[in-house]
Amino acid sequence: MGSAGAVAQQIVILGAGPAGLSAALWLHKLGLQPLLLETATRAGGMLNENLLPNDWVLGQMGLTGPQLADRFGEHVASLALAPRLRCTPSRISRSGRGWRLSVQTAGGEEAIDAAAVLVATGTRPRAQDALGGVEGLAEAAPRIVYGPPAFADLDGLRGQRVLVVGGGDNALENARFLLDQGCEVWVVARSRFRAQRAMMDAVVGQPRAHLLSPVHLRALQPVAGGLRVLLDGAPHELLVDRMHVLAGYAPNTDFLRSALPPELFAQLSLDGEGYVGVDAATRTGCPGLYAAGDVCNPLFPSVVSAIAQGALAAKTIELDLRQPPVDT
Ligand SMILES: Cc1cc2nc3c(=O)[nH]c(=O)nc-3n(C[C@H](O)[C@H](O)[C@H](O)COP(=O)(O)OP(=O)(O)OC[C@H]3O[C@@H](n4cnc5c(N)ncnc54)[C@H](O)[C@@H]3O)c2cc1C
Repeated sequence: MGSAGAVAQQIVILGAGPAGLSAALWLHKLGLQPLLLETATRAGGMLNENLLPNDWVLGQMGLTGPQLADRFGEHVASLALAPRLRCTPSRISRSGRGWRLSVQTAGGEEAIDAAAVLVATGTRPRAQDALGGVEGLAEAAPRIVYGPPAFADLDGLRGQRVLVVGGGDNALENARFLLDQGCEVWVVARSRFRAQRAMMDAVVGQPRAHLLSPVHLRALQPVAGGLRVLLDGAPHELLVDRMHVLAGYAPNTDFLRSALPPELFAQLSLDGEGYVGVDAATRTGCPGLYAAGDVCNPLFPSVVSAIAQGALAAKTIELDLRQPPVDT
């Protein structure tokens, strides 16, 4: 199964995070044949980066992200829908009324046909690009942590001086955990802080917390016993032990530019940051191509919204495939 021409109503889902896994379940229930293709070595997407108990998912109390990923993965595996791992599409082209994908797999290039394609490729933490223009990045690299690893081994950071870069929920949550470990914490945001109220309230006013905005980093200089940080704004200089960069996420859509023919890529109407625009039913501007989850820049990126949008995409695909073909 999964090879060229084998299955008429096969639906290829790119990405086995919560959105893709949920879409697979729903497509299966709706009588279609989902095929999950995942670039990583494990299903679950960003869940694998959330090492803390995730109590935001109804009925799943106390489970960490990887535990939730296992649970979601077991569900689809029980229906023989386990994702194919280490698979990356290199070409996505029209084939009759559907699609033909060229996919790089562990065993080499493979052609896969699909009646519809769902993009559920999520986002990745912004890294060096979030610090563009800051001098001394390379020299300071050993003291900089980007994205979710900033939440790992917090016990070992007891009493350290930490600069957290970012003004959203992740940055403020990280600051709170560091404060709980007795750290001295500076949180700097380029514009205003955008974290939810509860996250801000947990940090603001704490004696070892310093929230600075708007502030731009100018340069980083490793010095004996730490990292000197030069700022455009007051104070002009800080001395810290390490820096955590939690400055948002970027969509995993770069591959679409090279995989799709230019005229189809143009129909996707990505926004300025590369997020896929979809209508209320998850259709992109390119007929037969759908998108769900964080890759669509939801107002509230979360496990439950990704699951919901994956289910919606499945339902929309099933409805659209029921329509008689339009002669052109
Ligand atoms: C540290 C951290 C903590 C979080 N905490 C919470 C929380 O407490 N509660 C909550 O609700 N949410 C939380 N989130 C957010 C939540 O994890 C995401 O909103 C959710 O995982 C989005 O699901 P998704 O399926 O859209 O995308 P993702 O989870 O990003 O999955 C996308 C998948 O697509 C794969 N992929 C990428 N490119 C390709 C390609 N070209 N081809 C095939 N596959 C591809 C990726 O490898 C990945 O597996 C947290 C996120 C992080 C990073």
